[in-house]
Amino acid sequence: MDVPAITQAIWTFKVKAIAVVGAGTMGAGVAQLAATHGCIVYLNDIDGEVIQRGIDGIVARLERSVDKGRLKRRDRDAILGRIKPADAICDLSDVDLAVEAVVEDLAVKQEVFATLEEGLSASAVLATNTSSLSITRIAEAVKNPSRVVGMHFFNPAPVMPLVEVIAGRASDEASVDFACKVAEGWGKVPVRAKDTPGFIVNRVARGFYLEALRLRSEGVAGVDEIDAVMRTHGKFKMGPFELMDLIGLDVNLAVSTSIWEQTGKPARFRVHEMQQQLVDQGHLGRKSGRGFYLHDGETPLPAVAVDRRSYELSPLLSDAMLAFSARAGAAQTSSTERYVFCRILSAVINEAGLLFSDNVATRKDIDIAMVKGANYPKGPLAWADDIGHRTVRGLLKGLNSTVSDGRYEPAPLFADAQ
Ligand code: NAD
Repeated sequence: MDVPAITQAIWTFKVKAIAVVGAGTMGAGVAQLAATHGCIVYLNDIDGEVIQRGIDGIVARLERSVDKGRLKRRDRDAILGRIKPADAICDLSDVDLAVEAVVEDLAVKQEVFATLEEGLSASAVLATNTSSLSITRIAEAVKNPSRVVGMHFFNPAPVMPLVEVIAGRASDEASVDFACKVAEGWGKVPVRAKDTPGFIVNRVARGFYLEALRLRSEGVAGVDEIDAVMRTHGKFKMGPFELMDLIGLDVNLAVSTSIWEQTGKPARFRVHEMQQQLVDQGHLGRKSGRGFYLHDGETPLPAVAVDRRSYELSPLLSDAMLAFSARAGAAQTSSTERYVFCRILSAVINEAGLLFSDNVATRKDIDIAMVKGANYPKGPLAWADDIGHRTVRGLLKGLNSTVSDGRYEPAPLFADAQ
């Protein structure tokens, strides 16, 4: 029996050579990762200086590992020896996989994929690291879209354990399996997702950020108070505002806008005006010294005030919140802390439920993705199981009765709970 070339590569699994296109933050990280795991890496960028800067960055990171005694000099030299600057991406016939990490622009990516198809062997898998573009649309640029998949690494790629592997409409199973095997071979945890806006992590995380932004603008609590609630009672490593400052407000805004627009602008994903305002003012978070916090001293101080307003909760909603927070292990909070906690956590859980109901990924993969890709203390669907779907639904219904746009409508996963 003839075994297709891609499937054959899975049996005799060891990727020898890859091409990385785009040598910026992500491309250089993927190049380092692959070379560390024994691959020859052809590192390409439209700008030759960026390739050199990417390699300099890898040298510096490996040097730190040597200094800390985590890497032998001999191994560092071998890793660096495997990274080959490539002026062009044609004639790379020994390459099994290409990872594209160029700018987030559909036309540019499509051009790169058309060139890759010409320059690489017919059996090579072509992967894109896009955060927000459709894999199916990118694959439209090639004659054989079955070998195009998404491999969404997280920053920094050598460190972050998760890779979302995304099947476009035309991707074949063998290419998706191959990408998963490659990720595993590089010590990563792959999860599979369908080609939908934000995939798993970026979509579920919208609830964490957008609900926090709404709470502040409604005058319920300040950014530092909201962050403290989610750290203390939710056991998140970082609260939503400090995390947005770390990621960069511009990056977060771009992801929010893209998901909102691509999903038909539903109320729950509506981009918050504060995100846009701060970006317009050049307050991008840690990288610019100011975002939701001021980052010029030892301890970041809130840079955004709260116009505190009172809010009223119906007895039904108060009861639902008490039940939800008690079962989520956060019973000892004041009523405002409880309100903050319940709104943010239920938004995250509901989005995970919607993702599951939309068939984007399995329950297990959704939970793994949020723990490994976003550092959540627990998978949102496991959390929902612990709290009880009925209690989750009760809270969401209570919250939904306070708004006119239906943004807390419970996911079907919770809607039928007994
Ligand atoms: P970056 O700006 O650091 O690097 C992009 C590189 O692509 C630049 O060096 C640019 O010169 C190069 N480039 C542009 N056009 C090119 C072409 N035609 N051929 C070759 N190189 C070209 O960007 P980044 O942050 O590394 O992001 C790259 C991709 O990874 C984007 O799709 C982004 O959405 C995705 N991504 C980014 C992150 C992140 O946290 N930065 C995380 C996950 C995924």
